[in-house]
Amino acid sequence: MRFQVNEIFYSIQGESTYIGIPTIFIRFTGCSLRCSYCDTQYAFFEGESLTIDEIIEKIASFKTDYICLTGGEPLEQKDIISLIKKLLELNKVISIETSGAVSIKNIPSKAKIVMDIKTPSSNMSELMLLSNIEMLKSSDEVKFVCQTEADIDWSIDFCKKYELYKKAHILFSPVLGVLNPQVLVEKILSNSIPNTRVQIQIHKVIWNPDTKGV
Ligand code: SF4
Repeated sequence: MRFQVNEIFYSIQGESTYIGIPTIFIRFTGCSLRCSYCDTQYAFFEGESLTIDEIIEKIASFKTDYICLTGGEPLEQKDIISLIKKLLELNKVISIETSGAVSIKNIPSKAKIVMDIKTPSSNMSELMLLSNIEMLKSSDEVKFVCQTEADIDWSIDFCKKYELYKKAHILFSPVLGVLNPQVLVEKILSNSIPNTRVQIQIHKVIWNPDTKGV
């Protein structure tokens, strides 16, 4: 059982309700999508093949129980469920960043899913698996990355249509340097969708936005 791993690093969580928490990131190689705003294109191809034991050895020295599985698309790794189960057995707190285009069906319920709903300007919204919405649990999170005002309006309509706020936490995130966060905040305030927060990727504020491994 092997995994294609692009990078493993220790930083603070830059997004989600775990924002700011010291976290180990395991970034997997490969993603079938090609979002227009993708900031991890380097993870499409590069990486090394590791076993579960080798991954556990690499993260052993980091002093946190929080682990974020990210990518690329972590759920495209054939044996990812086995790795998630093993990390949960070790009492790790797992969050999984996923594109929304891969089924979340067999993910253990103790792991938090942070699932994108791809907005129109990503050019990938047609590939969303809507069946995932019914599998979300209340501790999970859905994220709308917006880079235009039309994206925000579309996302708000989507939240209302699927009553997402009853199913999971909702995150709205502007593409930094493209969409003015103030525009996003004003639209969210004027729409009053429950269970919703605006976030900014704080690792891109703390470090240069192009810095890898943070
Ligand atoms: S799903 Fe994520 S990794 Fe894949 S192309 Fe989109 S932004 Fe990039």
